[in-house]
Amino acid sequence: DPRHSPSRGAQSRAHSRTRSRTNSVNGRFGADDFNFGDILGEGSYSTVMQATHRVTKHKYAIKVLDKGHLARNNKLQTALIEKNTLVRLGAGHPGIVKLHWTFQDEYSLFFVLDLARNGELQSRISKMGSLSVECSRYYAAQIVDALDYMHGKGVIHRDLKPENLLLDDNFRLKITDFGTGKILDSDVQTAKTFVGTAQYVAPELLENNETSRSSDLWALGCILYQMIAGRFAFHGLSEYLTWQKVKALDYTFPDGFDEQAKDLVQKLLVKSPTERLGAGEPGNPNDIMALKAHPFFASIDWATLWTIAAPTLE
Ligand code: ATP
Repeated sequence: DPRHSPSRGAQSRAHSRTRSRTNSVNGRFGADDFNFGDILGEGSYSTVMQATHRVTKHKYAIKVLDKGHLARNNKLQTALIEKNTLVRLGAGHPGIVKLHWTFQDEYSLFFVLDLARNGELQSRISKMGSLSVECSRYYAAQIVDALDYMHGKGVIHRDLKPENLLLDDNFRLKITDFGTGKILDSDVQTAKTFVGTAQYVAPELLENNETSRSSDLWALGCILYQMIAGRFAFHGLSEYLTWQKVKALDYTFPDGFDEQAKDLVQKLLVKSPTERLGAGEPGNPNDIMALKAHPFFASIDWATLWTIAAPTLE
């Protein structure tokens, strides 16, 4: 059945029964424990495929990374960061793609992940132009709740953007792509390295080459703005011009932008990372509880956020 034999070299080798079985890292799973289905998407070093566990019939997304390609481009470290970050996030949170198992064979690394069948939030925004305030509120709240968990585990994402926000069967959000993630040591609160995407990058990264949990809150501000406005908060004709706008906090709200959303965006898009809403240490007036208590989220019931039906995407 051609649908079940992955087309490209790495995947067809991945499909080979004996090789993957004998090289399974944890000795329990290999590629031959899964039936591979459609390709869900491709990244620079990976192909993500739908797969069904042969015994349980449970469906997963399996990210197949080509070891040779990774090594040739010095990206083995990135794959390792992604794995370690996902492992740190552990038992998990409904808003974060869970890593169930990893294994490898001679050619490929395999990450068995939660399947998010409804694609990227980015495609929905593109297709619809913008999202309703109600939808934007729901997805912003899910991001906040997932960040609360992630940051509590000492993980910062550093590349939050609608392309990295997937939608599951129930149109609930799942954050993915931890290849740029950072695990903070308990005594080190910031991390120095340049990562991210121009439109969502926080000014402290551009100015001091420094990121912290708060950089994810800046990205949240950009995402909330984008969902409602249907365009980037900061966008220039080049990456460089976008960065200039970020550093100058040069953005404006379109007419009719929801007032409470506007107030929240203004409290997230603050140049000083420590002053952003949600960035304060617990007990401070701008801690994560204060972010959850912002009037924009007044109608959100945080206890049932992951069990109630998602609002119709509009
Ligand atoms: P790059 O590696 O170039 O940054 P990427 O991060 O998008 O790209 P992948 O993480 O390999 O690369 O994902 C490739 C595509 O597969 C994504 O665009 C996404 O649409 C899809 N995808 C990734 N993970 C899942 C998942 N858990 N469920 C469903 N689809 C997924």
